[in-house]
Amino acid sequence: MSTTTKLEHLWIGRNLDALDRRQIENCEHIWSVLLQSEEIFVQLDVSRAGRVGTMTGFNEQETKVYLGANVYEGPGFSANARLSAMACLAHELAHAQRHVHGRGRSKTLPEIFLDEAETSIEASFMRVLSRRDRRDLVEDAGDYLTIWMRHEDNTK
Ligand SMILES: [Zn+2]
Repeated sequence: MSTTTKLEHLWIGRNLDALDRRQIENCEHIWSVLLQSEEIFVQLDVSRAGRVGTMTGFNEQETKVYLGANVYEGPGFSANARLSAMACLAHELAHAQRHVHGRGRSKTLPEIFLDEAETSIEASFMRVLSRRDRRDLVEDAGDYLTIWMRHEDNTK
């Protein structure tokens, strides 16, 4: 299995179903709690969230986070698949903070895996997170570090 396939596999385990109005409003509430806690403003664009299979992610060019179906956990077995909507949005807010402060890393392989690990660790420090969310984010970071190391081993 290639490294890229493994990375995609982490994401495959999350929700794919279109979000309903209640779920979108729940995410908007979570987002406002995170923004207040971190004292930063980043737009959460919910325009795609009502569509099947959409992805949640920070868009560097537009400096905003798109809400997607995969904000919710799914049937996968990885820590990533288990991340709650709160933990997932904390991760995306951490991407935004890193970008704004010039701390983002290269988005090329394999460095993108270290960027993802750092982002999840950074998110794990957000004060509003539960102990479980924090632990899941740290485990998610560990998975990305493992993928980075496997990639290194395979390219010797
Ligand atoms: Zn990420």
